[in-house]
Amino acid sequence: MQGRAGRALAELAGRVRRLTATDLGPGPWAPPAARPASGGSSGSHARTADARTAALLDGDVRTQARRVAEILAGAPANAAAPELPPHADRGRGPLLAVLVEPGRRAGPGAAGRAAALAAEVGGSVAALLGAGGPGACAAGTWGADEAVFVVGGHVEEDVACAVAQWCADRLPVALLAPATSWGREVAARCAARLGAGLVGDATDLAWRGAVPGLTLVCAKPVAGGASAEVWATSAVQMATVRPGVLPLPQPRPAERIPTGRVVAPVTQRLLRTDSEPDPGVDEMAAADVVIGVGRGVDPADYPLVRELAAALGAELVATRAVTDAGHLPHSRQVGITARSVAPRVYLALGLAGKSTHMLGVRRAGTVVAVNVDPSAPVFGAADVGVVGDWRPLAVALLDEVPAASGAHAAGL
Ligand SMILES: Cc1cc2nc3c(=O)[nH]c(=O)nc-3n(C[C@H](O)[C@H](O)[C@H](O)COP(=O)(O)OP(=O)(O)OC[C@H]3O[C@@H](n4cnc5c(N)ncnc54)[C@H](O)[C@@H]3O)c2cc1C
Repeated sequence: MQGRAGRALAELAGRVRRLTATDLGPGPWAPPAARPASGGSSGSHARTADARTAALLDGDVRTQARRVAEILAGAPANAAAPELPPHADRGRGPLLAVLVEPGRRAGPGAAGRAAALAAEVGGSVAALLGAGGPGACAAGTWGADEAVFVVGGHVEEDVACAVAQWCADRLPVALLAPATSWGREVAARCAARLGAGLVGDATDLAWRGAVPGLTLVCAKPVAGGASAEVWATSAVQMATVRPGVLPLPQPRPAERIPTGRVVAPVTQRLLRTDSEPDPGVDEMAAADVVIGVGRGVDPADYPLVRELAAALGAELVATRAVTDAGHLPHSRQVGITARSVAPRVYLALGLAGKSTHMLGVRRAGTVVAVNVDPSAPVFGAADVGVVGDWRPLAVALLDEVPAASGAHAAGL
């Protein structure tokens, strides 16, 4: 059996050819010579993530817990919510489109950033809204200048068909979709239909160049703690954006915005009978405090972690080591190959702090790490550190939390 497999592999190896983007010729994958992007001669480059250095807490575990409680209560809020530009006229300047997943709250960050990008180039934003999602008015408060309802078919394949048709008609310079299971399904199919370049999992967006040669440069976490800049060279530049990484804007006053609709065919090639995609995405994206657990936390102790999370009003996430072992769902994994969170405080318990994990929390306000190993990389990616066992610290913290919350509520 092995011999047959070995022979098959050897035969396959002889048939595998290595091709570069240049070998493939013109297309959305090509280096941006075809597009007037200013700076850079390829479709991506990387820069290193910003490092933090933990101030280690001394004293006994009770003193450390009291200090952690104070930090949890008093750590400053993340950067103030950005103000949205005023509404732009529909059809003015370059058009940006934002695809909003039905039934999700994590849409305003992308719409808000799209509004800011549109304002930079005198353009406008269209929100593409599915059935059962937010209405036109809500989309307007997040940054949209017009709302387009996708009616008819609602499975991803059908929605993608309608969105691609709308893009072919209206030619937006960019289309943003959420980096969720639904968003990836729709965006990938839509990109294939349009022949558009699609950047997956963007964590930030900026323009390069000027109208009419705008290039949407997307930041994307890559291994080694770096952030790569990636862009597409197609007419419609597409990106999926991680929920929770872009700051929520201050909502605009509710106002009527122009609406339209696009009809998705009901192909019935796919039927959805049941789904609960990406549970917890909205909650994790909006969490004020997030507790991350690693392999240093014994699953038998999860009830204690959950008690702490409940006391702090925190969401629970984990490293890949934990989710791969099946101790927590994959939807709770944070890092380069998973989700991002941007809480005011990230409390890392018994996790090594590898860059592949910490990239997912780089937008956290204050990072507090607890690890028995003083040389653990997490202390080079945290603001405050406790060298020690997480368990007694968590127990002592539970005693401190109500006092700390009271002090915060009293403005102390
Ligand atoms: C391509 C690629 C992509 C990846 N993507 C991701 C990703 O998206 N997200 C992710 O998380 N990982 C990712 N990983 C895996 C990542 O590199 C690490 O292997 C993983 O994050 C380690 O998980 P951990 O810190 O829980 O486990 P470990 O590395 O085993 O660390 C456990 C830590 O707990 C400490 N500890 C033990 N007992 C205690 C105690 N009682 N109290 C306090 N501290 C204690 C130890 O000192 C140790 O530092 C990826 C890896 C690759 C190769």
